[in-house]
Amino acid sequence: MDLGLQGKWALVCGASKGLGLGCAQALAAEGVNVVMVARGGDVLVTVANQMRANLSNAKSAGGTNSFEKVVLTVAADITTPEGRAAAFRLAGGPGTAFDIVVTNAGGPPPGDFRDWARDAWLKAIDANMLTPIELIKATVDGMAARGFGRIVNITSSAVKAPIDILGLSNGARSGLTGFVAGVARNPALAARGVTLNNLLPGKFDTDRIKTTIAGAAQKQGKTVDEVRAAQIAQIPAQRFGTPHEFGQICAFLCSVQAGYITGQNILADGGAYPGSY
Ligand code: NAP
Repeated sequence: MDLGLQGKWALVCGASKGLGLGCAQALAAEGVNVVMVARGGDVLVTVANQMRANLSNAKSAGGTNSFEKVVLTVAADITTPEGRAAAFRLAGGPGTAFDIVVTNAGGPPPGDFRDWARDAWLKAIDANMLTPIELIKATVDGMAARGFGRIVNITSSAVKAPIDILGLSNGARSGLTGFVAGVARNPALAARGVTLNNLLPGKFDTDRIKTTIAGAAQKQGKTVDEVRAAQIAQIPAQRFGTPHEFGQICAFLCSVQAGYITGQNILADGGAYPGSY
C-alpha cells in the first residue's frame, strides 16, 4: 500500500534506538524526509548513515520508492527548550513546517512514590507530558494551514493498565493523554487534515526493556533469561514486539489512509491488556 507520504517532512524524537528508530526507518522507507533527534550524537550518526545506505541500496535496486529522501540528525535533549530550538533551526530542515511529528523520549525510572520528591515529578512531567505539548504547539497550526498533519505520541500501555512502580510514567503520560484527547477534537485541526494520536507500546524488544529485565533479575535473584521468559509467558502473542513492527504501525497512523483516525490511544501489546475497551 502506498501511504501517500512521499516528500513529507517528519520530526522523530528519541530516534537513535528502539521504537523511535523503528518509526524513523519506517517513515524513511515511505519516502519521508526524516529529522532524527537523540542526545547521543555518535549512535545517532551511525544509525542515520545506515539508513542512508539502506535507502540508497533500495534506490539502486530500482525499488518503487526510488525518489530522493533526506535523513538529518540533531544531537540534542528534546526535553529542553534549546534542544527543541535546535531541531527547528536545523540547516536543511523545514523549520517548524513538519508534516509529521513523532514525540518520544526516555521513560521515567521505576520506584516507590514515597521516594519521589517534586524534582522527580517535574522531570517526568517535562519529558513525557510538556515536551510533546511544546512540540505540538510549535507545529500543528502550520499543519492545519497546509491541510495535512500527523502527531504520533509514543506513550505506554501503562496509560491503560497502570503499573504500581511506574507511577511517574502513569501520571505524566496520563496528563498528555487527556490533553491530546481534547486538542485532537478541535475542528480547527481535525477538519483541516491534522490528526493527533497516541501509540501505546506494551513490551517491545529494545534497550529499555533489556535494562528493566536486568534490574528485575537482580532484584528477584533470577537470571535475565528466566525473567524474560516469565514476561513473555504473560503475553498472549508469546513474544515481545519488535521496533520494526512498531514503526510500521506508526507509519500507517501517519498515512493519508489514516486521516479519519484521531484522538485515539492505539495499543500494540500482543494482546496483553485483558479488557474489551
Ligand atoms: P530506548 O530503546 O531506550 O530508546 C530511547 C531513545 O530515546 C534513544 O534513541 C535515546 O537516545 C532517546 N532519548 C532518550 N531521552 C531523550 C531525550 N531527552 N532527548 C532526545 N532523545 C532521547 O527506549 P524505547 O524502548 O524505544 O522506548 C521509547 C519510549 O517508549 C519510552 O518513553 C519508553 O518508556 C516507552 N515504552 C517502551 C516500552 C518497551 O517495551 N520498549 C514499553 C512501554 C513504554 P539518547 O539516550 O542518546 O538520547
